[in-house]
Amino acid sequence: MTASVSAALFWLLLAGAGVTALFASASERLSEAFSTDARILHRVLSQRMEQQEAVLNAAHALASQGVDEATLRTALTTLRRQYPQVVAAQRCASGRCRTLGPADVPLPRLPLSAVTESRAAVRWPAGGGPLYALTRGSVRVWVDARRLTDRLVEGSAPLAFTVTRPGSGAVLVSRAAPAGPGAALRTFRVQKVLGTDLQPFTLEVTRAAPWRAWPWLGAAVWTALTGGLTALITGLLRSRRAAQRALLDERALAAGVVQAATEAIVAVDDQHRVTLANPAARAALAHPLTPGTDLRTVTTFRATLSPAPFDAASFWSSREPTPLPDGLTLVQGTQAMPVEGSLAPLRGARGEARGRVLILREVGALHRRMLAQLETGERRAREHQDTLAHVSRLSTLSEMGAGLAHELNQPLTAIVSYSQAAARLLDEPEPDLGRVRHAVNAAVHQAGRAAQIITRLREWVRRAPGQARATDLVQAAQNVLTLCHADLRRLDIRVVTHVPPGAPVQADPVHLEQIILNLLRNAIDALERTPHAQITLVVEPEGSEWTLTVRDNGPGVTPDVLRRLFTPFTTSKDGGLGLGLSLSQTLAQGMGGNLRGANTATGAAFQLRLPQAGPPPASAGAAHQGGRP
Ligand code: ADP
Repeated sequence: MTASVSAALFWLLLAGAGVTALFASASERLSEAFSTDARILHRVLSQRMEQQEAVLNAAHALASQGVDEATLRTALTTLRRQYPQVVAAQRCASGRCRTLGPADVPLPRLPLSAVTESRAAVRWPAGGGPLYALTRGSVRVWVDARRLTDRLVEGSAPLAFTVTRPGSGAVLVSRAAPAGPGAALRTFRVQKVLGTDLQPFTLEVTRAAPWRAWPWLGAAVWTALTGGLTALITGLLRSRRAAQRALLDERALAAGVVQAATEAIVAVDDQHRVTLANPAARAALAHPLTPGTDLRTVTTFRATLSPAPFDAASFWSSREPTPLPDGLTLVQGTQAMPVEGSLAPLRGARGEARGRVLILREVGALHRRMLAQLETGERRAREHQDTLAHVSRLSTLSEMGAGLAHELNQPLTAIVSYSQAAARLLDEPEPDLGRVRHAVNAAVHQAGRAAQIITRLREWVRRAPGQARATDLVQAAQNVLTLCHADLRRLDIRVVTHVPPGAPVQADPVHLEQIILNLLRNAIDALERTPHAQITLVVEPEGSEWTLTVRDNGPGVTPDVLRRLFTPFTTSKDGGLGLGLSLSQTLAQGMGGNLRGANTATGAAFQLRLPQAGPPPASAGAAHQGGRP
């Protein structure tokens, strides 16, 4: 069945039901009105019958009392004036009937009954007709049935009626309804017996409901309305179906594009559970990616170009479109595939968050070669940087040679002294072994100190690629202070430290000490001619980082140098290379941190920040330590 046929059937049903209901309601209304009018007519006719009988009974009562004829005539004439259907009154005696007063119509002949009845009765003239008489005793009252409905107030739709005599069924009076235009749709009919004992005539009332009494306009309006409504609904349904088809087409198209794409496409919900994945994604991730799989658990990225590891947590939690960093590889077991792509939020029609979509592309052969070369370049740069750092360390050590020699000389001299003292004590006739043991222990302690310095120096001169690991920033600062001990003492520089018991940072220990040494040596150089020279070292937590601030009360950085502080070959020193700060900043950034410098009200301050390793920095009270070295 086509849609148009269904719509037409629907319309026919709806219109038919409405029209039927309208006509049924009109029919009920007309039937009720007819019943009411017929009831009124029946009551009026019944009353009029009773009126006639009342006139008869009154005349009989007067006649029985023996009033003279003139009085009787006057009384009856007065009574008749109120009841127009009573057209004449007669008094019968001795076989003759005399009409009392004028008769309204010619009276037919009515044979006299042999016995004068004392009870009221109805008498019919021979030949029928609308006239009949009510008799009682000597009195006769003539009734013209045609006048029964005189002065009857009727509505706009008069009734047709017939009054018939009981028994014979002869029509006493009949009135047809005035002919209206057109045929009647329905004729209402009712039959009742008039409510008097004497005249129980049969009253049949009919009324033809004319065509204009029916709700043609309402039916036409309803039919038109339902037609319009059906057309509207059909149109709406048709356009909805068309829109649905278009939507399905588009969806199929989009799904086709996603499935055919060579890029890996995976849509996830807010909890990173897979909702859609194309074949390229299943192949790239080597996983079936069934809906509900947590994408984070099956996708591992590794950074190649950047020294810092790929921050997966912040990547997956990003609410903005986030491109994957350059040089990222997707790890599949032992294989690593260089990829590029992005993670973008998905929004619904009203802009509400509907999850995210991850798009991955394996970088092309050319791109891959470029990345490989870039990586090689980066590796070389890192090697150069390591070499430079190494050379810089060697150069620093050679500059610190005198101080370091002095630093080593001290424990060696002490070892010699303690050993000589021990030998002397042993040469005594009764050597005091306790003192000998003390001298030997002191020599061992000094030898350990010297060994520590040498170990540090060996590590410094060792050439190894930088490798970040959990390192204590406070310990590193203390190691550097030990190396600079001789210079600090020579220049009488007071060192004040505000440091916690430990500050674990993610850093290469040698590079970290190299940075601190650069900062400390610059401060020492700046303080060479400063009276009451002081260096303050502060280690404190800041967010997810630890900071080390090296502050001095020297003359501060000259404005010229300050502008290019971290640019290589910026120096104000005779024989200075101007590489210390730029190298230190590069090393700090390579470890995920940074180095900044500025002048303060009383000198210069340099701040090194490094990411904390392990648990977040505790707000442990900082130890305070100060004094001349
Ligand atoms: P170099 O020490 O070889 O000059 P650096 O890069 O370590 O190279 O320092 C660059 C310059 O920054 C120094 O020459 C000096 O002018 C300035 N500088 C660094 N630290 C300080 C400081 N604490 N006080 C004053 N000037 C400083």
